[in-house]
Amino acid sequence: MAIQSINPATGAVLKTFDPLGADEIETKLARAASTFASYRRTTFAERAAKLRAAADLLDAERSDIAVTMTNEMGKTVASAAAEAAKCAKAMRFYAEHAEGFLADEPLDDPSVVGARRAFARYQPIGPVLAVMPWNFPLWQVTRFAAPALMAGNVGLLKHSSNVPQCALYLEDLFTRAGFPVGAFQTLLISARQVEAVLRDPRVAAATVTGSEPAGQSVAAICGDEIKKTVLELGGSDAFVVMPSADLEKAASVAVTARCQNNGQSCIAAKRFIVHDAVYDEFAGLFAAKMAALTVGDPLADGTDIGPIATEQGRTDLEELIADAVAKGATVLCGGTAPDGPGWFFPPTVVADVTPAMRLYLEETFGPVATLYRAPDLDAAVEIANATSFGLSSNAWTTNPAEQELFANELVAGAVFINGMTTSYPELPFGGVRRSGYGRELGAVGIREFCNQKTVWMG
Ligand code: NAP
Repeated sequence: MAIQSINPATGAVLKTFDPLGADEIETKLARAASTFASYRRTTFAERAAKLRAAADLLDAERSDIAVTMTNEMGKTVASAAAEAAKCAKAMRFYAEHAEGFLADEPLDDPSVVGARRAFARYQPIGPVLAVMPWNFPLWQVTRFAAPALMAGNVGLLKHSSNVPQCALYLEDLFTRAGFPVGAFQTLLISARQVEAVLRDPRVAAATVTGSEPAGQSVAAICGDEIKKTVLELGGSDAFVVMPSADLEKAASVAVTARCQNNGQSCIAAKRFIVHDAVYDEFAGLFAAKMAALTVGDPLADGTDIGPIATEQGRTDLEELIADAVAKGATVLCGGTAPDGPGWFFPPTVVADVTPAMRLYLEETFGPVATLYRAPDLDAAVEIANATSFGLSSNAWTTNPAEQELFANELVAGAVFINGMTTSYPELPFGGVRRSGYGRELGAVGIREFCNQKTVWMG
């Protein structure tokens, strides 16, 4: 796939870039390694000042970069601006907390190990390659970059081939903020060129946010090279609604949880599992609210949903729905792409989904929700867990015993009760099963790419 900005609202090619050649990649890897040698010795205060400067620049440039994001991948310009603001917040969060998160952890009584002092020390490990997706073109990268830079690592970014302008902006942002050239570099390369970078001995580790095939490939190569990986892969999050829930609120949040980012979020709720006693009422509310959303120009005020980011992405949705309908599913709203330019797709609710349908098992990356009727609590948990993914999950109930049960029994990296899954700088983020492993954000996120060195002093 060429490295191109293509406006998904029009199909127009905005810019095309040549992938880096071997010599250019070598220059960047050499620069990463030499920068790391000195950058790792900088103080937390020095790094924090640069990261705060990056946050200030990003705030000042928010409107402009939001338009670039929208033009490259189709999210509404309001959500693009909100994403940029969230990135600035996360940068300030790590600028403030990194030193505390990475402080030495002493053993209270070192005599038990025969030492005068014994502690764990967190040290940077070197250049880390981040393979990132287009769906949150700034946020996914920031989740990696802010903690990595504060830990004293240096970053190499292989961004999705459809968001090269966002990728170049990020390198430029960190450089203008005062980080040494080489602390954060964008590699405009194809997926095929990733293997050579991963195998380069100067690259210490890799993090992938993206699809299962991308995660499998990077993890296999890194396994071969004995290099650490963090994988943030797909999801098909459950959204369980029990009889005690505030149905009106649950239906409204369900719409946002499904349709945020034009429905293209790993942590979007995708499977809506509703107790029999409230199924019909919830289904009616949910479908009506979904159908009321405005689909259109992502740069226009009042648009709720812009286009799907790629033509293939829309085709994938059409195929999943066609397969389900052919096997007996019912489309409650949406379901058919409109005529005309751009890769638009309407908010869609599909009911009567069975395990024989691809929709039951596969991730829908667009505003397409599936509805399931659960006869009781146990069945709701069973359906929620009937997926190979395990990113996050949602449950709506005011019953404390049910809340505890969902918190314990849903197999996922997170459970949100009476609210939608959101990533916060303050909370760990990541999945289990085929959604990946490792965590980003919070204190645990910054430690993933550190050498947790045991120091024993006699
Ligand atoms: P993708 O096709 O896997 O692309 C993600 C990144 O991986 C891109 O930079 C892509 O480069 C690269 N890539 C693809 N195949 C590769 C390979 N074999 N080796 C090395 N790199 C490879 O995924 P996407 O379509 O952009 O993103 C959607 C997926 O990401 C969904 O499944 C979504 O759930 C998941 N996601 C997960 C999270 C999370 O935090 N868990 C967050 C957001 C998205 P090219 O563009 O050059 O192909």
